[in-house]
Amino acid sequence: MLNNNKTKSIKKQVKLNSNDNANLRMKKQHNTKVNNKNKTQQKVIVKTRPPIVTIMGHVDHGKTSLLDAIRQSNIISSEYGHITQHIGAYRVNNDQNNFSITFLDTPGHEIFSIMRSRGIKLTDIILLVVSATEGIKSQTIEVINQAKTAKVPIIVAINKIDLPNADPKKITYDLSTYGLIDDMWGGDTIIVKVSAIQKINIKLLLEMIELKAEMMELKANYSTKGTGIVIEAKLDPHLGAVAILLIQDGIVKVDDNLVIGNTYAKIRIMFNEFMEKLSMGLPSTPITICGINEIPCVGDAFVVVNSETEAKDIANQRKAKINKINLSKKSNIDLLLTINSRKNIPELTIMLKADVQGSLEALESDILRISKNITGVNLKIISRSIGLITKSDVNLAVISNAVIIAFNIKLSKDIANIAKYNKIKINIYKVLPEVSIAVKNMMSDMLKPHTVQKILGKAIVKQIFKLSNNKIIYGCYVINGTIYSNSQIQLLRDNKIIFSSKITSLKRFKENVKEVGTGHECGISLNKVFKEEIKLNDTIESFIIEKLVNVLK
Ligand code: GDP
Repeated sequence: MLNNNKTKSIKKQVKLNSNDNANLRMKKQHNTKVNNKNKTQQKVIVKTRPPIVTIMGHVDHGKTSLLDAIRQSNIISSEYGHITQHIGAYRVNNDQNNFSITFLDTPGHEIFSIMRSRGIKLTDIILLVVSATEGIKSQTIEVINQAKTAKVPIIVAINKIDLPNADPKKITYDLSTYGLIDDMWGGDTIIVKVSAIQKINIKLLLEMIELKAEMMELKANYSTKGTGIVIEAKLDPHLGAVAILLIQDGIVKVDDNLVIGNTYAKIRIMFNEFMEKLSMGLPSTPITICGINEIPCVGDAFVVVNSETEAKDIANQRKAKINKINLSKKSNIDLLLTINSRKNIPELTIMLKADVQGSLEALESDILRISKNITGVNLKIISRSIGLITKSDVNLAVISNAVIIAFNIKLSKDIANIAKYNKIKINIYKVLPEVSIAVKNMMSDMLKPHTVQKILGKAIVKQIFKLSNNKIIYGCYVINGTIYSNSQIQLLRDNKIIFSSKITSLKRFKENVKEVGTGHECGISLNKVFKEEIKLNDTIESFIIEKLVNVLK
């Protein structure tokens, strides 16, 4: 555990390494002066804004626990106050210096991937959690690479230092091989050793984030119309369509008109993360807004415009453009479906339901990724929506013969009964990777039974005995494998199959036997009279048809 002195020394060291503590203070004073000057002019007000931090790292390394610890330290500590419920993002405030940090509380990787795929930079700092016992893992490396590409600085929290087999020194060394060199070793990465469970160094971690943010000099305009990103969107049972927006620049007020992606909103009510009503939202803060025309998508950008008419016009123009693109996409899909149905490929039809827009998008992209690698079965997603499963969802499933795949939502008894009565499958999942595995298994089950012919043995016809009762016995020599009495055979001449038949008797000398192995002679009778006569030196192959289990790799 780090004692107070060590805490101070780390902080001091980091400040020394940055070598700009004094400069920082001077710059701060200067900024305050500039801001004051701006204030008096009542024009552009540019001020420091809180950093936006995303927690990322390998599964089980303690991201959730660390978030919890940060929240709890907020409850306990007098210095950092204000805790929020889950709304996709929340702030912690240091009441002593009025500094706050905004944490993105969505599944870090998903939101980060969505933002990256849309070329949006939302996060100022990535808090990379690495387990002190397990060290660097695949997702750790993935985060390091993502951060490098997106040019987002990383602060590392080496977690679980309370465990006896924790080896933070080794982890620090390993991190250096990936270019994350501890500032205590002269590098520029802040590394804090923490225990989320034992609440060790949580405050120090927050201070380090604060320090890093100060060094980054993050600024925003506090006098302009707000712009930002949708970080969550959902149907609230009481409020209707709501969106959680992260304001990146400018301010957003009640009654403001917004264009959000290809929809629009006139803000009726606005809440902060405690669901307390707000009249205004400032940069780097998450706000929940009501009054949206349609549920937007996670990652959609928003902008405050001058009037409701302007907002509607822009949104409608965007929608028309998208509809045009979708129409041409649809005709391609239709074509594909026709071709596939002509080929008689089985199809798995699914409907996706999720609690929030972010989960829905992650769900769909996961399923599509998995299904791409599966041949022989088509996947058709006929609907995707958020909120509870309704009767009309079940009706659609009945008409379309679809399976309803739901993520993180509850199923009412009534709907469960309707679905059961109509023999509609509703599968509800709580963990994202489980969904793609389940879809993969469903597709696997739909594959037509696959059979293969397995050759068991080969024999050459050496003699032909025509008996008085019209029976023929072929005297053969087994050159390969085993000939079985109950197997099917095929006759080959010059490597071409002439016909197939079944063995009626297999004899060794005069005895009926079940099998004859390589290097032995035998007498074979077949169950048919064939058009084509069997000739000397023809090959008889004994085989069975094996059914393969459809397991997709
Ligand atoms: P995530 O998958 O990264 O969100 O990891 P979790 O927060 O769910 O933690 C995974 C497991 O590690 C859980 O069993 C936690 O109780 C445990 N864990 C997390 N942080 C610590 C820690 O600081 N010390 C110890 N001993 N266990 C921890």
